[in-house]
Amino acid sequence: MSDNFQFINLPRLDPEKTESRVRIHTWNEIYGQFDSADAGNQAGRCLECGNPYCEWKCPVHNYIPNWLKLVREGNLFEAAELSHKTNSLPEICGRVCPQDRLCEGSCTLNDGFGAVTIGSVEKFITDEAYKKGWRPDLSNVVQTGKKVAIIGAGPAGLACADVLVRNGVKPIVYDRYPEIGGLLTFGIPSFKLEKEVVRVRRQIMEGMGVKFILNTEIGRDIGFQQLLNDYDAVFLGMGTYNYMEGGFSGENLTGVYKALPYLVGNISQVENWETKADIREGLGMQDGYINLKGKHVVVLGGGDTAMDCNRTAIRQGAASVTCAYRRDEANMPGSKREVANAKEEGVQFLWNRQPVSIVGECQAEGVKVVTTELGQPDARGRRSPQVVQGSEEIIPADVVLIAFGFRPSPAEWFKDFNITVESNGRVKASATQEFAFQTTHEKVFAGGDMVRGSDLVVTAVYEGRQAAQGILDYLQV
Ligand code: FAD
Ligand code: SF4
Repeated sequence: MSDNFQFINLPRLDPEKTESRVRIHTWNEIYGQFDSADAGNQAGRCLECGNPYCEWKCPVHNYIPNWLKLVREGNLFEAAELSHKTNSLPEICGRVCPQDRLCEGSCTLNDGFGAVTIGSVEKFITDEAYKKGWRPDLSNVVQTGKKVAIIGAGPAGLACADVLVRNGVKPIVYDRYPEIGGLLTFGIPSFKLEKEVVRVRRQIMEGMGVKFILNTEIGRDIGFQQLLNDYDAVFLGMGTYNYMEGGFSGENLTGVYKALPYLVGNISQVENWETKADIREGLGMQDGYINLKGKHVVVLGGGDTAMDCNRTAIRQGAASVTCAYRRDEANMPGSKREVANAKEEGVQFLWNRQPVSIVGECQAEGVKVVTTELGQPDARGRRSPQVVQGSEEIIPADVVLIAFGFRPSPAEWFKDFNITVESNGRVKASATQEFAFQTTHEKVFAGGDMVRGSDLVVTAVYEGRQAAQGILDYLQV
């Protein structure tokens, strides 16, 4: 029987986390898994408060209290089915979502009791159900005979494929990389998301009837016109891949690297992947694997990518890792959990420091920074940093990693097909079009980072799913 006051006697418990002194020597995920008893007990802490703010704050509006209840009752397969009604990658979102500012951040139990461990239960459901033989139930699907090409096997493309195949439309997903996942595979390090999790998701999706055509770049290996000819509609989920520069001197010195090529080089080394020359070129990975063992490293930026650089450098055995960010800790964009993990692993943070140049003759020797204070909030409520006069200092460094984020990277060929790009480079498509996430080409839909700018896995999933609904409406199936 349910006990709505279980949260009083049973404190919040997170799955066991590997101690920092141990985990910095491995590339494994740092969080363990609940066993069935702990998952049930933690799920049972849900108050069923009647107004589930967690659902509203979750970008895909997961039926959180409902699947928590199923876990508490031990109905794992039902929980897995329900969880997939709103989320195409629940085990991945359970691992990488910044729950502290999404679902868990809005849990009623934050008032002194500790939020329900929603993310960990979400990952438990699919991981454990899959191990016990659960596979998505597509027994009622009626085939429509329609087929849709999807460009990009990242979260947006995968989510779009998931909804289409469940509605009897055949998705064929093209990606230039040799494995699915987009930034899940070629970006996020394995200590946050082991690559085996993405491989399992591929097996699930292939089992559902999704076809992947990998190592194939649209616009180079296959022309876009051919997709328009061969398919009933096309979805673009191509991400954002232009690196933001600091715009200050010294960025071209030896020892200065961009975040994503550094991270992908390391993942390739850890996973023992041969990264093809054209992928290396596309990602700006001319330097290949960059080993920072023994180096004094400065990471510039305050988002998830910066945290991943910090923690990768620590695991490579850097002599020191210092992360400089121009706002204070409360105003940084990265997940609070990841900042805490980085601190535990030995990363030093310098808040309110804005880089003005990278110093050195040929080789980077340090980063010149100024101290900042936060001014009044702007129209969007963000407080912009103001420079404190006379506050220049140099942080010594052998290596500088630049993690300022990404700008949109619209393909040259979009203009040949009337696919409109906004002045900021994002593809024009939104929930408010006649058909959700339709572009200015009636047969072409788009979503994820290339439409909203670089953001989160879960928001890319949301847009991929919404776009799939737009495609179904457009195809009238
Ligand atoms: P992507 O994941 O970028 O996928 C796009 C895919 O399209 C790629 O596979 C690419 O190869 C393919 N493609 C592009 N052009 C073509 C073409 N012409 N032909 C064929 N294929 C093509 N989010 C979180 O929620 N939590 C995190 O902890 C987190 N950490 C991150 C860490 C890093 C280092 C980075 C870079 C991002 C992180 N993010 C995180 C953000 C998240 O990964 C992205 O928001 C999300 O992956 C976007 O999904 P997408 O499908 O739009 O694009
Ligand atoms: Fe929370 Fe993300 Fe899962 Fe939504 S998808 S319930 S925000 S972990």
